[in-house]
Amino acid sequence: MALIVQKFGGTSVGDTDRIRAVANRVVEARKRGDDLVVVVSAMAGETDRLVALANATSPDPDPREFDVLLSTGEQQTIALLAIAIRALGVPARSFTGVQLGMRTDCSHGRARVLSIDASRIRRDLDRGAVVVAAGFQGTDSDGNITTLGRGGSDTSAVALAAALGADVCEIYTDVPGIFTADPNVVANARKLDHIAYDEMLEMASLGAKVLQLRSVSLGKQYGVRIHVRSTFEREEGTWVIPEEEVMERPVVSGVTYNRNEAKVTISGVRDTPGAAARIFRPLSEGGVVVDVIVQNVSEDGRTDVTFTVPRPDLGRALEIAEAVAAELGAPRVSSDESIAKVSVVGLGMREHAGVASRMFSALAEEGVNIQMISTSEIKVSVVIEERYTELACRALHDAFELGEERTASEEQGLPAK
Ligand code: ASP
Ligand code: MG
Repeated sequence: MALIVQKFGGTSVGDTDRIRAVANRVVEARKRGDDLVVVVSAMAGETDRLVALANATSPDPDPREFDVLLSTGEQQTIALLAIAIRALGVPARSFTGVQLGMRTDCSHGRARVLSIDASRIRRDLDRGAVVVAAGFQGTDSDGNITTLGRGGSDTSAVALAAALGADVCEIYTDVPGIFTADPNVVANARKLDHIAYDEMLEMASLGAKVLQLRSVSLGKQYGVRIHVRSTFEREEGTWVIPEEEVMERPVVSGVTYNRNEAKVTISGVRDTPGAAARIFRPLSEGGVVVDVIVQNVSEDGRTDVTFTVPRPDLGRALEIAEAVAAELGAPRVSSDESIAKVSVVGLGMREHAGVASRMFSALAEEGVNIQMISTSEIKVSVVIEERYTELACRALHDAFELGEERTASEEQGLPAK
C-alpha cells in the first residue's frame, strides 16, 4: 500500500462535472488500496476573478485581507471534491490550510512553507478517509491566512508529500507531461519520460509553466518523486526525479522561451569599481529581479551595461535606472520590450562541450541575431528579437534532434555510429 499525494489544477476541477470525474479517479486509486491526500486548486479562472474583485474595491488592497479573499477559491473546491467523493461511498474530509497545520512565514501573497503538522492528516488517513487538502494557502504564527503565490498549489502538494514521506506526488494537469519544447510552437515536440530536478528547475524558471518553481526546489530538497501527468488521459506523464536515477542523458533535454522580459541599457557608464553595485543595488532594493546582465568592454573609460527585467517591472526599472544614470553621469538609458529569451537545457552539458557553438550556428543559419548570452552549468540562454521566438525554438529543437526517438548510444551522449 502506497501513500500518494495527488494534486489537481484549476482546469481539472473547472466545473462540477470535472470535479466528479476527479472524484472517480481518486476513488479508483483508493480502491487499489492506496492512502490518498488530494490537493486541489481553485476552479480555473476563480483566483483571477477574486483578484479582480479586490482590485475593483481598492487600487491597493490590504495584503492580509487579499489572502483571506484569495484562499476562498480553494475552500470551494475542497468541499465540492469531498462531497463528490463521499457521494461515491468513500469517506473523504476536506481541510483548509489552517486545518492542515500548513505553517508559513507571514509574507502575504508569497508565503513560504515552514512546517506541516502531519498528525491531523495521519489520523484521518488511518481511519480510511481520503484527505482533501486546499492548495495555495497556509497560516502564519499569528493564525493569519497566507497564500503561497500564483501556482502555489504545486508547492502545497510537494510540501505535503515531503512532510508525509509520500511515495509519489502526482501533479494532474491539462497537459500530458513535460515536453522537449512547447508543443504549440514546435510541432514535433516530444513528451519526456524523465527529467532531473535541476533540469526541471531551469525549465520552470525559463518559462515552462507546468510546475511552480518552488515546488521543484522543495522536491529536490526532500527527494520527492514528482509525476506530472494528464487528468484527462491514462498514460504516464513525466517523472521529475533525482539526477542519479535519470538514465538517459541527452546533451540537451529541452528548449524553452520566455517573452516576459524587457531589456534596459545604460550607456556611457564610467568604468570604475563600484559602478555595477550602484546600478544593481537600487534595483534589487526596489524589488526588481534582474536576469541576464551584459557589460561591454570599456572604451575611453566608459562602458554600456545592459540587463533584462520582467516586463511588468520595466517602468519601475527605468525610473531607477534613470536616477542611477544621472548620478553616475551616464548620458543615456534606453529600453526594448520586443525581446525574447530562448534557452537550451540539459544535464549532459556538464560533460559535453560544443553546445553553445551548435546553438549559435543553428540561430545564425536562420538569420537570427543574438543580443545577449548567458550560461549556467546546464543551460545556455540567448536574448533575441521577440518576433523570431518560434523560429529560434524550432531551429534549436531540430539542431539538437529533440524531435527524434533516441538510440541508446545517443542517450549516453555518445556519437552515433
Ligand atoms: N489558485 C491559485 C492560482 O490560480 C493557486 C494554484 O492554482 O496553484 O494561482
Ligand atoms: Mg499550475
